[in-house]
Amino acid sequence: MTDFSGKNVLVLGGSRGIGAAIVRRFAKGNGKVAFTYSGSKEAAEKLGSDTGAEAIRTDSADRDALIATVAGRGALDILVINAGIAAIGDPLTFEPDDIDRMIDINVRAPYHAAVEAARQMNDNGRIIVIGSVNGDRMPFAGGAAYALTKSAVQGMVRGLARDFAQRGITVNSVQPGPTDSDMNPADGPFAEFARSFMAIKRHIHADEIAEYTAFVAGPHGAMITGAFQTIDGGFGA
Ligand code: NDP
Repeated sequence: MTDFSGKNVLVLGGSRGIGAAIVRRFAKGNGKVAFTYSGSKEAAEKLGSDTGAEAIRTDSADRDALIATVAGRGALDILVINAGIAAIGDPLTFEPDDIDRMIDINVRAPYHAAVEAARQMNDNGRIIVIGSVNGDRMPFAGGAAYALTKSAVQGMVRGLARDFAQRGITVNSVQPGPTDSDMNPADGPFAEFARSFMAIKRHIHADEIAEYTAFVAGPHGAMITGAFQTIDGGFGA
């Protein structure tokens, strides 16, 4: 198991689901881990006391608060931007404000957080955004705006990989397919439909996403940059 002793790690959106699994993985690897949350105070506090990670309340939609939180962590070694929401439904009836909030959290926040982290980041740092296979493929109706946000992440990753490369900082996206979480429960009403697009028809475990994230963040990830690691059970195949 990759060891993260001495590494300063920040996970944005770490209280539940994939983000919590990522927090647990870096904490198990002895990293100095902090994570943000917005609504799930109880879950965040429990995760903090279980792992020793520091929980910080910061809404990713609040740009100035987000930038202040990232800056406040000093010289990071690893930034994982996981916080995300999914507004799925008929574009003709969606409230524009709900779509814009998703764009704030899924697109604007990753950009500003990544840039702010890079200001102080140690050489050979790692910036990893949790994107989605829906950045590559949107095989059902109702997902246009969500797919828009995850495709936007891809453009950002490509560009920032070039911007920060001189310091050995890598910028990547790990792209899950259907992963068991509150957002997409393996026994929820949407689950069977989601699995119908997969070659291997089971929901992915959040730990499987976390382990790959740790690989990209570790020493063997030094030459992986501007890249997309899709873990989707063949959803996009
Ligand atoms: P969950 O809804 O289960 O958890 C989302 C996490 O993000 C929570 O910890 C939540 O914290 C945090 N979060 C959400 N909004 C904000 C915000 N405004 N500010 C700070 N934190 C926030 O989602 P998943 O774990 O399933 O998803 C995590 C990421 O993976 C997302 O980016 C999602 O798009 C992506 N993804 C998920 C897939 C899936 O099938 N599950 C598939 C592909 C991609 P809190 O509750 O405290 O607000």
